[in-house]
Amino acid sequence: MHSSPAMDRLVKSLKRLPGIGEKSASRLAYFLLSAPDSHVAELSEAIGRLKTDTVICDTCFNLADRNPCAICADDRRDRSLVCVVEEPADLGSVEASGGFHGVYHVLGGALSPIDGMGPENLRIEELAARVEKGGVSEVILATNPNAEGDATAHFVADRLSGFDVAVSRIAYGMPLGGDLEYADHVTVGRSLENRRQIGS
Ligand code: ZN
Repeated sequence: MHSSPAMDRLVKSLKRLPGIGEKSASRLAYFLLSAPDSHVAELSEAIGRLKTDTVICDTCFNLADRNPCAICADDRRDRSLVCVVEEPADLGSVEASGGFHGVYHVLGGALSPIDGMGPENLRIEELAARVEKGGVSEVILATNPNAEGDATAHFVADRLSGFDVAVSRIAYGMPLGGDLEYADHVTVGRSLENRRQIGS
């Protein structure tokens, strides 16, 4: 407990964040107390706006400030090429590589029985519906190069096997067990270029 109810309240809120325990929460709260007013106001404003100013694109499920998102709404993007990623941050990495001019599909995670993540928790059926609608010639599976990402890629490839669409997996220029989000742009770009077709 601290001597200020406001401090106690902030510490309690911070402790709900992933990876933040009592000690870290206290440290952050004390840091904010001594930080310039403008920094604290900016943080508070950013948190306040997060939910109201962020929407999820109905087409690709990317986070955006409008629906459809800027990528889905861009006529210069090749809509026949769909890059499947786990999270919006991974989409950011592929975009930053500058080597991809198609569109995306964000699954919302990867298969992980241990964490209770099954196919029903991912936007796999939404992807199948997108492919079924037509106009997609290739689906590139850019899930992370780790056990969960691989299992997810295979599951999605199986789900799409009945459709008239090429399915490919990004190449392992990516460090094994790595995460797309933290890979450098050249590596991400190269792994897209060297993708291999999988399935039938
Ligand atoms: Zn979109």
